[in-house]
Amino acid sequence: MSATQTYKIEVLKASTSKIKEVDFDNLHFGEVFTDHLFECDFKNGEWQNPTIKPYAPFLLDPSAKVFHYGQAIFEGMKAYKDDNDGIWLFRPDENYHRFNHSATRMAMPEVPEEIFMEGLNQLLKLDEAWIQKGKGNTMYIRPFMIATGAGVIANPSDEYKFMILLSPAKSYYSGEVKVLIAEHYSRAANGGIGAAKAAGNYAAQFYPTNLANKAGFQQVIWTDDATHTKLEEAGTMNVFFRINDTLYTAPTSERILDGVTRKSLIDLAKREGINVEVRPVLVSELVEGAKNGSLKEIFGAGTAAVVNPIIGFSYQEVYYELPKLENSVASQLKEKLTNIQHKLAEDTFGWTVKV
Ligand code: PMP
Repeated sequence: MSATQTYKIEVLKASTSKIKEVDFDNLHFGEVFTDHLFECDFKNGEWQNPTIKPYAPFLLDPSAKVFHYGQAIFEGMKAYKDDNDGIWLFRPDENYHRFNHSATRMAMPEVPEEIFMEGLNQLLKLDEAWIQKGKGNTMYIRPFMIATGAGVIANPSDEYKFMILLSPAKSYYSGEVKVLIAEHYSRAANGGIGAAKAAGNYAAQFYPTNLANKAGFQQVIWTDDATHTKLEEAGTMNVFFRINDTLYTAPTSERILDGVTRKSLIDLAKREGINVEVRPVLVSELVEGAKNGSLKEIFGAGTAAVVNPIIGFSYQEVYYELPKLENSVASQLKEKLTNIQHKLAEDTFGWTVKV
């Protein structure tokens, strides 16, 4: 189909809604899904019949390549409802482009913008009752694509399934987060797939993260694979450090995901007159800063938690605790960003998009 092709989305509605069974005040992240999902299959070199249909399991051939070679990618984004029931997305074009960037890296077909955006918009409208108003209530959006072609030959599939799932989410407080700085394991390497949201990146993090959990740390701060001297990401988030009055974060690269929250926080912080430096940050700077008191804050940044403050880190068996702050830069930036996302503050950047 050509780039100008228009796709008609078939809508099959669920006969009953599950919404009454949901306790919206006690949601666990990513466990509850709405009544419908969006689906579009790629076959014979073309995207076929996009459909919105009731959320349900589906069948795949046991030899489907996603099971054997992990050809799978995803995105994570959110929708918000304003006080007048308007539904808003936050920088959806960034997620769309990153999705296709991931697709290319994993030898998968790009999803046409119309399928991604129209599918998402129609799905959100259909399950609109599931998007709760009020700050702290969001709809987490999970677009993903898997290789469905059958056959255990290690080459790219010729068939794929693209889907979008919706999962209502409360903004969460992750508790006190202590992190372990990686001295051996890596999440990404040059020439690898760290800059893609490829499923395997996350599977590869589970084992070292389990080890860190057992040692009493909630997350791992990943360092560069070659030298383990540069700080790269925190868990599945980008990471910021405040040393005195300057915020530091690593430049994105082949190894570091180009996070939407990260780039938004950089712009917001600059607008607030905060000095931001995008440059590699060394583990030694962090240790030095913790020792001499110039290291004030560490926080992760990502769509799910928005900002995730880190209270201390361990490196070479030594634990360094950060000062407790009343009015941290992390909490100020989180407040400003979530106000824009929830349409409670003017969006001077033009980041919010009406559904
Ligand atoms: N790094 C990794 C590895 C991630 O999985 C995510 C979550 N998508 C992020 C950073 C943060 O990206 P974003 O702000 O776009 O959610």
